[in-house]
Amino acid sequence: MKTVLVTGGAGYIGSHSALALQKAGYEVIILDNLVYGHQDLVETVLKTKLIFGDTCDSNLLKQIFSTHEIDAVMHFAAYAYVGESVTKPAKYYRNNVVGTLTLLEAMLEAGINKFVFSSTCATYGLPETVPIKEEQSQNPINPYGVTKLMVEQILQDFSHAYDFRSVCLRYFNAAGADPEGMLGEDHNPETHLIPLVLQAASGHRDSISIFGTDYNTPDGTCIRDYIHVSDLAQAHILALKYLLDDGKTDVFNLGNGNGFSVKQVIEIARKVTGQEIKALECDRRPGDPPVLVGSGEKAQQILGWQPQYYTLEDIIAHAWQWHQKRHQ
Ligand code: UDP
Repeated sequence: MKTVLVTGGAGYIGSHSALALQKAGYEVIILDNLVYGHQDLVETVLKTKLIFGDTCDSNLLKQIFSTHEIDAVMHFAAYAYVGESVTKPAKYYRNNVVGTLTLLEAMLEAGINKFVFSSTCATYGLPETVPIKEEQSQNPINPYGVTKLMVEQILQDFSHAYDFRSVCLRYFNAAGADPEGMLGEDHNPETHLIPLVLQAASGHRDSISIFGTDYNTPDGTCIRDYIHVSDLAQAHILALKYLLDDGKTDVFNLGNGNGFSVKQVIEIARKVTGQEIKALECDRRPGDPPVLVGSGEKAQQILGWQPQYYTLEDIIAHAWQWHQKRHQ
């Protein structure tokens, strides 16, 4: 049985990927500093070894790699609040860049050479055309996106210099929850649209604010490509298999190629939940590109990725099921 170290495995996408790894027959070890992760979900759902610590801690990494037979690393551990990355860039460069480099150096020293990396469509900045393909130029417009792009560049250089191969997965808008209701999204603070809409549906907040209604889009609100978190998790398994089968270093977008506006998301959430959901029209949020839609064709062709839950109804229904369970 192959063993995978999952950093950030107590977080949203990391925990779903850890569960998918277990279902696919891999042994999972989680490294998480529990700043945003949920220990209870690792203990009750994943029931696997949780190492409490940070990717900046090279001694801890050395110890992990010398005491466990690890075949590959999936790296989710990162800070991901775009707004905070603007006001506290040092926190983001230290954790997302220095932490990753420390991890990569520890892997080199231990002779572990397969790496799956959580990247993001935020590395593209304002897209030239949509749907976005991997060749489009990357000009991130906030420090969060820059940290992820820096790691992508480090990985390119590593694959030229060393016997080291990686896959970067550039996610569009991760959403939804485990279809069986075991895991889901639980950020604190929460800033993402779908969980906030569901908080408004369940009465945990009074209303949802629509950030901008004067964009150049059909209904004036921003359009995003929402990807089910379990489909993202499957892409990680396929990326790992690709690397285990000697696949070369590469990057893939994970998007459905379908965009939904903020107003459409709220409308579908009203249908799925049967609740009214009060929406307030507000000013634009600084830094939001009007339209972000990704082409997942390359991942489909090379990795054999086939998203299963591509309707927004499914995505929101699974998120709602989780929200009700977690916040009852
Ligand atoms: N959004 C909104 N109200 C909110 C949160 C988000 O209108 O309370 C909008 C946001 O401006 C963006 C879209 O919903 O256009 C998705 O935002 P989210 O923060 O979920 O993801 P992002 O695209 O920023 O990664």
